[in-house]
Amino acid sequence: MDWFEGRSLYQLTSQGVYYIFNRYFVERGNLVEYEPVIGLEVHAQLLTRSKIFCGCSTVFGEEPNTQTCPVCTGQPGSLPVVNRKAVEFAIKLGLATSCRISPSSLFARKNYFYPDLPKGYQISMYEYPLAEHGFVEIMLEGQRKRIHIIRIHMEEDAGKLKHGETPETASFSYVDFNRTGVPLVEIVSGPDIRSPQEAGDYLRKLRAILQYLEICTGDMEKGTFRCDANVSVRPKGQMEFGTRAELKNMNSFRHVEKALEYEIKRQIAMLEDGEKVVQETRLWDVAQGITISMRGKEEAHDYRYFPDPDLVPLRVEEKWVEEIRKSLPELPDGKKERFVRQYQIPEYDADILTSAKAMGVYYEECVRLFPEPKTVSNWMMGELLRELKHDEREIDQCPVTPQHLAEMLSMMKEGTISGKIAKDVFEEMYRTGERPERIVRDKGWVQILDEGKIEEAIEKAIEANPKQAEDYRKGKEKLFGFFVGEVMKQTKGKANPKLVNELLKKKLKG
Ligand SMILES: [Zn+2]
Repeated sequence: MDWFEGRSLYQLTSQGVYYIFNRYFVERGNLVEYEPVIGLEVHAQLLTRSKIFCGCSTVFGEEPNTQTCPVCTGQPGSLPVVNRKAVEFAIKLGLATSCRISPSSLFARKNYFYPDLPKGYQISMYEYPLAEHGFVEIMLEGQRKRIHIIRIHMEEDAGKLKHGETPETASFSYVDFNRTGVPLVEIVSGPDIRSPQEAGDYLRKLRAILQYLEICTGDMEKGTFRCDANVSVRPKGQMEFGTRAELKNMNSFRHVEKALEYEIKRQIAMLEDGEKVVQETRLWDVAQGITISMRGKEEAHDYRYFPDPDLVPLRVEEKWVEEIRKSLPELPDGKKERFVRQYQIPEYDADILTSAKAMGVYYEECVRLFPEPKTVSNWMMGELLRELKHDEREIDQCPVTPQHLAEMLSMMKEGTISGKIAKDVFEEMYRTGERPERIVRDKGWVQILDEGKIEEAIEKAIEANPKQAEDYRKGKEKLFGFFVGEVMKQTKGKANPKLVNELLKKKLKG
């Protein structure tokens, strides 16, 4: 090991953490590349009206502890009964991710103590999950990549702890059991993910599927879609996995990606220092942008799982599964293929346009009003998504409606506005939510098609630059672009470019 060269790749930061500048280190003169191995566990809250084992309401944001009963608060003698709708939703997800639906699955007790868990155990599934062996496809450098779904199982959510925030309540903690017993599905991916970006793509795809199915809102900030990540690193080419850490507390896609990036660098730095990565649970600290050790990782046997004696095995008839299969709506991959076929747009475009249900709806509405699919796609993937990303907004919060975008594209096509002005109009529509027609009128941005006016501007441009005009006539043709620019300056970018070209050629020669 050449220590000097090895060390030069990273440094000690103020937090005492090694920061690595790239993924390589030098060993006996060879570059060794590390590879991260990532698996994700997603908890998604199912949109049923009542809880998973009782009739209590699941409505969010009500007064604390008003939506509870003896079952979900674990009173002696009460008995759980499984919610058929929750099972149906879980089967929908299983089918949508190409899983095998198990004809017989089993609820089990996962035993642990926490103040938000009144029964002292959580009802989950262990050896016999509802669905297994599926996959979700993501696009990786233009190719499709399958991320395997090991299992999908059903479980109940826990309550919520609230710690006193005012000086008077600072020494108190409160518990709200309204969320206790809200149905969840846990989706466990295989260790197939190889970068933080892939992790983000997989999560977005999975959320899109849940939203297309209308079984989960997919809101990470509100906690209806939560993600834990198992991450380890190994030298590229090595078969066996490294020791993994579990990351928690990431409540946006960006945080998942950032936490993984940080953790990968941290683990590589440890290995390079000859240290061992410890198996543990780590919390993502948003403020500091680092992961912090929370506790040693517990193993499944620590929970003393056993079949819940209050619940019979969950038997799912094949007939019912087939009925559910037939009722499935068009899903992201199906819609993507249809967009490619129907609108003749590249798969890349179609992938992005179907990445959220609302995005596909927006696109199709816009194309219906302005039937040039590729133009619409270009504007959505360019201007529209750039603005939304900048503001961290979703498409259904976009101030520009499909009607307004279509109207603007029509104005551009008819020559009322130039392509250059169209970008300004779009920005203004996004800022104000106004109709493009009104913006163009108020700002005086109508394109100049009047040949007289354009000729006037050309004459001015030539008059102001006699030397360049003469050089052009002598054969310096590159100067043509210069004159186009001058004319555009004169007309504040409103002159029709085609007319400018035609007339300018004539005038410069004459
Ligand atoms: Zn209840």
